[in-house]
Amino acid sequence: MTESEKLIEQAECDLLHTYNRYQIVMEKGDGVYLYDHEGKKYLDFVAGIAVFALGYNNKEYNDALKSQIDKILHTSNYYYNVPAINAAHKLKAVSGMDRVFFTNSGAEALEGAIKTARKYAFLKDHSTDHEIIAMNHSFHGRTVGALSITGNPHYREAFEVTSKGVRFADFNNFDSVLACVNDKTCAIVLEPVQGEGGLNVADKMFLENLRGLCDEKDILLIFDEVQCGMGRCGEMYAWQKYGVKPDVLTSAKALGCGVPVGAFMMTEKVAQNSLVAGDHGTTYGGNPFATAAVEKVLDLFESNHIIEHVREIAPYFEEKLNAFVDKYDFIIERRGTGLMQGLKLDRPVADIINKALSKGLVLINAGSDILRFVPPLIITKENVDEMIAILTECFDEI
Ligand SMILES: *Cc1c(COP(=O)(O)O)cnc(C)c1O
Repeated sequence: MTESEKLIEQAECDLLHTYNRYQIVMEKGDGVYLYDHEGKKYLDFVAGIAVFALGYNNKEYNDALKSQIDKILHTSNYYYNVPAINAAHKLKAVSGMDRVFFTNSGAEALEGAIKTARKYAFLKDHSTDHEIIAMNHSFHGRTVGALSITGNPHYREAFEVTSKGVRFADFNNFDSVLACVNDKTCAIVLEPVQGEGGLNVADKMFLENLRGLCDEKDILLIFDEVQCGMGRCGEMYAWQKYGVKPDVLTSAKALGCGVPVGAFMMTEKVAQNSLVAGDHGTTYGGNPFATAAVEKVLDLFESNHIIEHVREIAPYFEEKLNAFVDKYDFIIERRGTGLMQGLKLDRPVADIINKALSKGLVLINAGSDILRFVPPLIITKENVDEMIAILTECFDEI
């Protein structure tokens, strides 16, 4: 038995079994490479699911965290702290939003967004039976509120009761949204690019129509950019690519590049007409350690020209994936945008992912039949070529 096998056996005795994990114990990372407990090296095109935008073991980032550890890790939100103040100010500047609330995760950011929308509507008519329109195939997280707007019945089934007051429309189908709207609608929530749901990219016209509808009826438009935000689509936030600004914006995953942190943000108008002191809180959210990470991440995005790099590398990556679609009959299409890409196959992708892992390439699925690519944003053309070469071997063996 290898050391890893022993560890995995132990893990399966102690951890609640809510994941079917790959049989690997990850140990450390460097740049775009991961190393497992046995010392095997992997090229990583998952980045901890769109988290490690700057790659692993970035020295400046690590140093910033180490120096914050030596100052203070946590203070209550009843006091101010410098990293949170700086991080909020910088996040406002790059997101175009006016007010920031830091959370511990993406799901928690969605919880805050839902509460914001419900409070906004409550203040208008003092009723509590408002409805939210969400999209089929959406993913917003696993807490009960976030789950209630997640358009995947499989995730919700046993917890369906929480989806009271939520209607599901079809992504990119404005008529289906119109069919859900009524006087009780308080918000429309969607990912401009659906991640878990299959790398579905919103049409500009769809988002423009939603914006128009929300303006007309004073409904809040919420964009969940937990996965597609933070430069992944070639702008800091995907809304900027479309020129369609939401009222409420959620962010997480790459926001802390490894430190658990998220945020929900809003315009000044929404802030002035929704949550007030006492309405919302969190013990850890926005603590100095997490926000020191956010501040450094935002600095490094700027100094390392991450957005420009994504714009440069993404077309090259797309071109290579398109060539796969032409070459292999079992690949139906390429989906996605920027460094958030998918290949839809005519079969389950689990075997291919396992094959890739054995050859030292980390990939992940989106649904059962889509290979998802959400690499560190710092990948080079050489990294793309290396990935394509390994994946070619995997495809050739099918
Ligand atoms: C991952 C994800 C979430 C949930 O984030 P957690 O940090 O896992 O709670 C929410 N929305 C989208 C779009 C996501 O991709």
